[in-house]
Amino acid sequence: MVKRDDGNGASTDIMVVPVGTVDNEVAVELAAALAEVFNCRVERGERLTLPARALNHARGQYLSSAILAVLQQNKPGNVSHVLGVTDCDLYLPPLNFAFGEADHKGGVAVISVTRLREEFYGHPGNDQLFRRRIITEGVHEVGHVLGLEHCPDPHCVMHFSNTLADTDRKGTDFCANCRKELRYLACFTP
Ligand SMILES: [Zn+2]
Ligand SMILES: [Zn+2]
Repeated sequence: MVKRDDGNGASTDIMVVPVGTVDNEVAVELAAALAEVFNCRVERGERLTLPARALNHARGQYLSSAILAVLQQNKPGNVSHVLGVTDCDLYLPPLNFAFGEADHKGGVAVISVTRLREEFYGHPGNDQLFRRRIITEGVHEVGHVLGLEHCPDPHCVMHFSNTLADTDRKGTDFCANCRKELRYLACFTP
């Protein structure tokens, strides 16, 4: 795992940070899943408030890059990578919505769980599917933060999700190429 040395020896590879109103349980499960997938030290950070300037009143959505900026401002020096998780609907022009966004250079990413619920589309709730989607999107964005780009393999977690059908097809696993790339980045032990 790539670590940031802050001089005092203490370091966290990934910090999961709830932003705005999102169930604590989501952050807890996400942190546990990321620790297992990336085989690294994952902690949970203090909940952050949604930045008012991120809200687009006309759209009723939040600009994901404005949330990334807040995550970066609040990133502790001993933390290498931050994944924010929120339950507000995100957009990222030219996309009219986004499941998440990552900034590799800044070491921060965010996902929204809002569109991962079956209820959002008028379907009956499915908690197991909801949880799997959260982990899939979380692993995908952390993959970007670590330096991976989109993968052409539709069954790889790094494949771009245009719709939830893409998310459900790919699941949480990396393809052989992305797995190799992660090993090269020295941040992943399968
Ligand atoms: Zn992506
Ligand atoms: Zn791949």
